[in-house]
Amino acid sequence: ETIGENLRRTVERVGDHEALVVRHQDYRATYREFWEQTGLAARGLLARGVRKGDRVGIWSPNRYEWVVIQYATARIGAILVNINPAYKTAELEYALNQSGTSFLILARAFRTTDYVAMLNEVRDRCPELRQTLVLDDEWEGLLADGAGVPEATLAEIEASLQFDEPINIQYTSGTTGFPKGATLSHHNILNNGFFIGEGLRYTENDRVCIPVPFYHCFGMVLGNLACTTHGACIVVPGEAYDPVAVLEMVQAERCTSLYGVPTMFIGELEHPRFSEFDLSTLRTGIMAGSPCPVEVMKRVQSQMHMTEVAICYGMTETSPVSTQTAIDDPLEKRVGSVGKVHPHIEVKIIDPATGEIVPRGTPGELCTRGYSVMLGYWNNEEATRQAIDAARWMHTGDLATMDDEGYVNIVGRIKDMIIRGGENIYPREVEEFLYTHPAVADVQVIGVPDERYGEEVMAWVKLREGAQVTGEELAAYCRGRIATYKIPRYWKFTDTFPMTVTGKIQKFRMREMAIEELG
Ligand code: ATP
Ligand code: MG
Repeated sequence: ETIGENLRRTVERVGDHEALVVRHQDYRATYREFWEQTGLAARGLLARGVRKGDRVGIWSPNRYEWVVIQYATARIGAILVNINPAYKTAELEYALNQSGTSFLILARAFRTTDYVAMLNEVRDRCPELRQTLVLDDEWEGLLADGAGVPEATLAEIEASLQFDEPINIQYTSGTTGFPKGATLSHHNILNNGFFIGEGLRYTENDRVCIPVPFYHCFGMVLGNLACTTHGACIVVPGEAYDPVAVLEMVQAERCTSLYGVPTMFIGELEHPRFSEFDLSTLRTGIMAGSPCPVEVMKRVQSQMHMTEVAICYGMTETSPVSTQTAIDDPLEKRVGSVGKVHPHIEVKIIDPATGEIVPRGTPGELCTRGYSVMLGYWNNEEATRQAIDAARWMHTGDLATMDDEGYVNIVGRIKDMIIRGGENIYPREVEEFLYTHPAVADVQVIGVPDERYGEEVMAWVKLREGAQVTGEELAAYCRGRIATYKIPRYWKFTDTFPMTVTGKIQKFRMREMAIEELG
């Protein structure tokens, strides 16, 4: 099945239900209206000369046009290129040229950044870029052109598409370095979105608040595709993340589900106005993208009513989700693991040195195989060969354990593991422990170079509002409770961490900053 065929089936089933609500644009559409708009936009792209396989870039924060374009491109088999709204000129130029984008849809501006001015700076250096369309000024023009293309033309193209053809290039988050473009098919992301929605038991009565960016798989697949495969409504609280807008939107739209990376949920729970909002319609949601602290998971369930909240684990390259907690898993698994492997996917945990599967409970590199593995990195066979082996296993670079029942635990990234005097330290474990201290709102642990031990442990701590504590006091709290070699030697108190726009903390940046500060 293609994404367009699947959407049409949803429309036939629940056409009068709301599909998309976008607060900052005062936009609401039912599934029938959404179907018509995606068709009109698809015909508009045809009118402008876009054909199957052409790359259509979208560089915009969350807006309704983003979602319409996601489905419009899929309906004509064009390849949507998700461009990170935080990109500046050099990154934009890279993404446009690397993907060979010929048609770019862009917002006029985002926050203080003038996109049009930035595009003009790089345009001469992007030979393949032929056309641009600025939101929202030029949007109506696209739809008007679309009206001139017969519906039958679109229907004929839709009927010719194959489910395993590429329709999307998603760049990875850039948490560990330079983003890579994962090429994904209808089959990859449509199925993944479907199984995510199944896991949360979505129906047409669910309303899903999505504050995570659409440019990232979290918004586009866990959000949009999980919703449209089940007839649920996509609810967008704003262009950029704002905890109050999220809380207001959940209340006003009576959302049943809420998404976020852990830092977003922390931002909502810790907000001084948190208790003003009625969140009692919430039932479920997803926390994902980076390690989900047990304490935060517990508070989301008890204070935000999300008793059926799930944790997902995955990566852009695998559509993205590989494991997910089930809403009826025992509590300790639902807060303390990333769940079991998704349907129709395999997971194994290997010793990265030997490639052998490790015994249950032993940390190793998580590898995954199945329909969800990307077609490859766009135009980068070398990187593809390094990531996907001859037997089609995707090597994730993540360290994980699996218990006897099949529950997976993410220990951390191989790149983030600290080796201090020959001992392996998993930052995650130290972070989890420090979260239990009442003064700690957020904490990130990294390794910094050390002459004597090779690496030393450093903690960056964000304190709760009004709380005060010193590094010595925190070290004293650790003593006797975690092994001495794991206790951070350096402490830094901070209000912000270097982050990607998805809210993922960039530990490689933290390391660079720490090295500079420590001298
Ligand atoms: P890049 O590959 O560019 O460095 P990235 O790996 O952060 O960036 P994504 O594909 O967005 O890009 O993120 C996938 C990674 O996020 C996983 O490989 C894993 O390290 C981390 N991750 C995702 N979900 C979880 C989770 N539930 N718990 C812990 N880590 C997670
Ligand atoms: Mg990655």
